[in-house]
Amino acid sequence: MRGAVIHAPRDVRFETLDDPGIVHPTDAVIRTAVTCVCGSDLWPYRGAEPIGDPHPMGHEYVGFVEEVGSEVTSLRPGQFVVGSFATCDNTCANCRNGFTSNCLRREFMSTCQAEYVRIPNAQGTLVATDGVPDERYWPGLLAVSDVMGTGWWAADAAEVRSGSTAVVVGDGAVGLCGVIAAKAFGAERIIAMSRHETRAQLAREFGATDIVAERGEEGVARIKELTGGIGADSVLECVGTSEAMRQALHSARPGGNVGFVGVPHDVAIDGQELFFSHVGLRGGPAPVRRYLPDLIEQVLSDRIDPGKVFDLSLPLDQVAEGYRAMDERRAIKALLKP
Ligand SMILES: [Zn+2]
Repeated sequence: MRGAVIHAPRDVRFETLDDPGIVHPTDAVIRTAVTCVCGSDLWPYRGAEPIGDPHPMGHEYVGFVEEVGSEVTSLRPGQFVVGSFATCDNTCANCRNGFTSNCLRREFMSTCQAEYVRIPNAQGTLVATDGVPDERYWPGLLAVSDVMGTGWWAADAAEVRSGSTAVVVGDGAVGLCGVIAAKAFGAERIIAMSRHETRAQLAREFGATDIVAERGEEGVARIKELTGGIGADSVLECVGTSEAMRQALHSARPGGNVGFVGVPHDVAIDGQELFFSHVGLRGGPAPVRRYLPDLIEQVLSDRIDPGKVFDLSLPLDQVAEGYRAMDERRAIKALLKP
């Protein structure tokens, strides 16, 4: 089979790889229906994370079950399945507590920009749909496997409530999905921080009521202006930089909450400042598996349409162009079809 391999910063190649097979009896192998490039793939692509030896890439996928290991009893070949970037058994103590992305048997996916993918912990991780969904839903279901699940977790962690005010820091695919989630959670006012016109437009379409283009302390000042001087009830931090985290913490009101889902890169939090701010802080890799049945249902019943974050669709063999387009911010998110 063929798949994406990163060799060095800005050097992603589409290569022939070994066909994946069942390694453990809890594995499944799927044939990829659609996959994509994630904003977090850009960290190594831009040289902001070490690459080491050339290795496959990708952690978002929906596909067709091809083969299952002997301990996988809930799935059969031919089923259409949605998974998560973090695999889980869905039975351990952490899974039972809802933190499936901290499963005691967790393995992170990292080979999904390929024609076939081995899924560890398949029984706990994969959710099969009733029959094969119409192809128009595939982008939305793919979004659910990572960015939509992550946006949902950001809103959940930030405790967005009905009638509240939510701020979303970050206008990438996760931030835009955070807007969808904040609206679904019942936020009355959703302030999206964006200075990119097409992204701001999509944020409005998803439910943002206000757009703030300013950043840093100017952005915070603008949020304060819009919230009676005190700040927002909930802030969704969807970037992972120090500036974005500071902006998020300073935009929340005393007693408000920040949900942070951008993978932190050189983020340091001032303990004293946090202490005196009365702001609650929770984040981490999204427990996507917990949300899958609900989010799949919401996509298939047309209540949410997170597939709109894919504004570029390419054949999988043009994966390198997907990375380039996202790196140069010509695309929000690139969909790849084998
Ligand atoms: Zn578990």
